[in-house]
Amino acid sequence: MHIAINNINIIDVKNETILHASVGINNCEITKISNPPISAKLIINGKGKFLSPGFIDAHFHIESSNLTPFYFGEAVLRQGASAIIADCHEICNVAGMNGFEYFRDESKKARIDIFLTAPSCVPASHLGTSGAKIGIKEIRQMFEYDEVIALGEVMNFPAVINQDPEIMTKIQTAKEKGKIVNGHAPHLSGNNLKKYINAGITDDHESTSYDEMKEKLSFGMKIFLREGSAEKCPDKCYQLLNEYKDNIMFCSDDKLASDIIKNGHINFNVRKAVSLGINPIRAIRAVSFNTAQYYKLDALGCIEEGKKADLIILNNLQDFIPEITIFNGKVVFKNKETIPVEIELSIHDNILKTIKVEKITTIPLIPFKYYNHIIEVKDGLVITKELNIHTENEIDLDKDILKLVVVERYHKKGNISTCQVHGFNLKNGAIASSIAHDCHNLIAVGTN
Ligand SMILES: [Zn+2]
Ligand SMILES: [Zn+2]
Repeated sequence: MHIAINNINIIDVKNETILHASVGINNCEITKISNPPISAKLIINGKGKFLSPGFIDAHFHIESSNLTPFYFGEAVLRQGASAIIADCHEICNVAGMNGFEYFRDESKKARIDIFLTAPSCVPASHLGTSGAKIGIKEIRQMFEYDEVIALGEVMNFPAVINQDPEIMTKIQTAKEKGKIVNGHAPHLSGNNLKKYINAGITDDHESTSYDEMKEKLSFGMKIFLREGSAEKCPDKCYQLLNEYKDNIMFCSDDKLASDIIKNGHINFNVRKAVSLGINPIRAIRAVSFNTAQYYKLDALGCIEEGKKADLIILNNLQDFIPEITIFNGKVVFKNKETIPVEIELSIHDNILKTIKVEKITTIPLIPFKYYNHIIEVKDGLVITKELNIHTENEIDLDKDILKLVVVERYHKKGNISTCQVHGFNLKNGAIASSIAHDCHNLIAVGTN
């Protein structure tokens, strides 16, 4: 036996109970669970501690962390994650299949399991100008890989409701290959929601209220409670865990590295659930067993003989920061430090130098005098609103009306769009980014 964890409280997520026993690990597998202590090369004394299955993030975009797949893994294994389901939507918008292949190669090096989904909507809609397009041919190519376990979030829900042939073929291909079809359906309800579900889409992570989640759950959809850097899940929604044992999971969707370090990864959701009065074992079940069952990851999600040894040792059931993380039968995190590993990382040349623009000079807001439809943004929300404030000025700092410019950055077509935006409260200067979901064109907001 390689590792023995003796006399520990095993969190049995399947039966929602705690079992006091010892666990033996050989190679990457849990090979023995017994009452008497087990002898092994490495013995961990589990007295007074808890053993939980590693946490699984049900939906994430690694790109949003600003880390490469390997370093993302290093950041989250400290927070108890052992697997994520990663949608390569952003890198494919920028670099197409080259971006996908880069992610696939680098994901294998991580010390967490990174399962991938084939991004279904690149570009997000026919209105977007992206660096590449992922069509049916590319989706088929991605589905040839075993690690691609789902069709990524079908965010173009109007296309599904209108039975657009391309998106319907992508969904059909996923179903034929036995892959899950991830949803993305903010505010969709009633008949349109039924049409969306009937197409074969089985989960959603975009609901922002208890009632919206409840309706989707009542139609048999799975719900991912999301805690991202920008998107937060209302407290009340966590109460659904009391009612729905199997159909709720946790996801982070988009989370910055700095946020992961400061506030945690998917363990943040578990901590929040417990702080809101949810039974800790129920919360851990949502982040392990439910996710593994849903994605048909049979080796993961619970502590049983024959399962993969992805485990975390917790000192209590409150903070959910592991004392030890074991991945694939190896200790990867201990004493607040990751165990060093030698690994050769690479970057594919064909995903570099993707910003191609001519020199930009002054960009007028046309025709601002008649244009009083202003985008309203709110901190902590990804949904924007239309605001009708009339202004005679392009920029009005008193009313917090700033100028926003989007510059196409892939094809040197010179496409530039402008509008007015409210909610930044910027008083001087400007901010700009090439991270701009979903096409990642150049976007700038400024005060002059
Ligand atoms: Zn989404
Ligand atoms: Zn997403």
